[in-house]
Amino acid sequence: MAENKRIVVVGIPGVGKTSLLAKMLEILGSKDRSVTVISFGTTMFDIAKENGVADRDQLRKLPISEQKELQKAAASRIADRSEQIVIIDTHAFVRSPEGYYPGLPAHVLEIIRPTNFVSVTARPEEIFSRRVSDVTRSRDKVNILDIKKELAVQSGMMSACSVITGSPIKQVLNGEGRIDEAADKIIRSMEL
Ligand code: AMP
Ligand code: MG
Repeated sequence: MAENKRIVVVGIPGVGKTSLLAKMLEILGSKDRSVTVISFGTTMFDIAKENGVADRDQLRKLPISEQKELQKAAASRIADRSEQIVIIDTHAFVRSPEGYYPGLPAHVLEIIRPTNFVSVTARPEEIFSRRVSDVTRSRDKVNILDIKKELAVQSGMMSACSVITGSPIKQVLNGEGRIDEAADKIIRSMEL
């Protein structure tokens, strides 16, 4: 049997990644293959809750050593999935007090062994307005320049992931009101 596809999807907060993945699941769900979308953040938060963390936006503020342990535990849970297509919703990096912490350090890549990366981007102005209007999350306050810098950091982190694993990166622009197009582009590129 062919090995399953483990597709790691990254995007800074506000690129519209979660909606894009919901759309992909809707399209792929109608095909004859088992598919799942797993949120790395939710998996980490489920484990952290057992240790008293009350809000998912507190995770990135924990000491790096704790984030690392939670991250490894989450990666192992995710690696256990046996669906033919496993789509992982995560981040190339998180904004921790000590600086940008990688969402996919070498030890996580070794556990998950991604076959594909998808790097979701959007126009900085659109990302900014999505962050401002999302009142459900405690996002850091940033301006358009910070967002441009974050997109550059994402790109650098993903280059490293691709070199370490030998797996390709598909970059997609998630344009406002054009989620179907972005979802379609990813699915066609990987022949899912
Ligand atoms: P999200 O709901 O996708 O924004 O994820 C919530 C939180 O989970 C993030 O702010 C991070 O603290 C954490 N998280 C998600 N993915 C990773 C990862 N790959 N490595 C470390 N922390 C992560
Ligand atoms: Mg999200």
